[in-house]
Amino acid sequence: MAVTTNAFEMAQQQFDHVATLLKLDPQVREILRWPLREYHFRIPVRMDDGSIRVFQGFRVQHNDARGPSKGGIRFHPAETIDTVRALATWMTWKCAVADLPLGGGKGGVIVDPATLTINEKERLARGYIQQIWKNIGPRNDVPAPDVGTTPQMMGWMMDEYSRLAGCYTPGVITGKPVGGGGSLGRTEATGYGVIYAVREAMRYLNLEPSSCVAAIQGFGNVAQYAATGFIDQLKGKVACVSYWDRADRTSYTVSHPGGVDPRFLVTITDQYGSIDKSAARANGYLIEDGNAWIGKEADVLIPAALEGQINAETVKLVNERVKIIAEGANGPTTPEADEALKDSGIFLLPDFLCNAGGVTVSYFESVQNDMNFYWTRDEVLQRLDTRMTIAFEGVLEMALQEKVYMRDAAYMVAIARVVKAMELRGWI
Ligand code: GLU
Repeated sequence: MAVTTNAFEMAQQQFDHVATLLKLDPQVREILRWPLREYHFRIPVRMDDGSIRVFQGFRVQHNDARGPSKGGIRFHPAETIDTVRALATWMTWKCAVADLPLGGGKGGVIVDPATLTINEKERLARGYIQQIWKNIGPRNDVPAPDVGTTPQMMGWMMDEYSRLAGCYTPGVITGKPVGGGGSLGRTEATGYGVIYAVREAMRYLNLEPSSCVAAIQGFGNVAQYAATGFIDQLKGKVACVSYWDRADRTSYTVSHPGGVDPRFLVTITDQYGSIDKSAARANGYLIEDGNAWIGKEADVLIPAALEGQINAETVKLVNERVKIIAEGANGPTTPEADEALKDSGIFLLPDFLCNAGGVTVSYFESVQNDMNFYWTRDEVLQRLDTRMTIAFEGVLEMALQEKVYMRDAAYMVAIARVVKAMELRGWI
């Protein structure tokens, strides 16, 4: 069996598959299977010791027929242009499936942020904007946080853009800190959005949430709020989460026989995402192999780390109790694993539907920035819940009507909306 490891090949394979099902016009297909624009640039940064290091940066705008490009900026040591292309493409589908008036974009810098001091991070964040500011903006392309970037970095980036543009422009970037142009509810939005989607899937499958167990991969922003949401809102149990250990360069699963307490785990997790293992063990936690999460006896699997985690090999480990896979990460499942999942009957909440909560509240943030009027946290989360529920229902309806896999149904809904916008604008 061929193994897909390149994320952009994966995004194109998924798209091609549905384009064929839809008998999409070959010219339209040609427009959509590649990003419309991409920028490659070098970012010289003065380090604290006085030396200068040059970082490679990217910003990719896949499609902006429905509105300004939208999507995060990743700081990751293994970043590649193909990963950014894939993620930008998925953002187009994500904004369309959530019915946001936005297109798809993504940015990246090849860097391990854990190796930078706070001042170096600020200079790199500002340097990124100095290189790209003429090609982004509230009506062109609006970045946001993603893997390796934080609300504070978004605050610096917004400040740098405002300085260069000569006027305060909070709507150029979302995911900013609250009090600095950010929206209440943005931090928890992606993880909670995953839980709203899981709740709807459980309703459809007639599962009782409080008797369900979830196994989560990752313990970053998405995983943390998915874990608290699963426990607080659904009253279910979380069997495990997982970590990447920078020092050992290995991942491991952290589980607890009685269910993990994510709020406690946060207190023993450092700012780079590594856990204090002895504190975990002292509190009854087990430290297991990195792939252990996927084999857990759970009803719901939530991959909320990086792309390519459920692949031809790891899919064989999925426990037979699993009924739902909720993709909190972008691109966690490879096309080979998808084939196995289709046969298994497991209900899939595909990434660009399941994790659309983050960009949905980013959209709310930019609306609040434009109005200069801010909503309460409850108002934000209520609107998020409504939007996630409507997006879920639209994709489920398509899956049932066309008798297709949920990922293909999500693509069908998204592609139809983007194609319609291109038609209405006279592009095709
Ligand atoms: N980076 C997040 C995502 O992949 C959020 C993007 C945004 O808020 O624009 O959906």
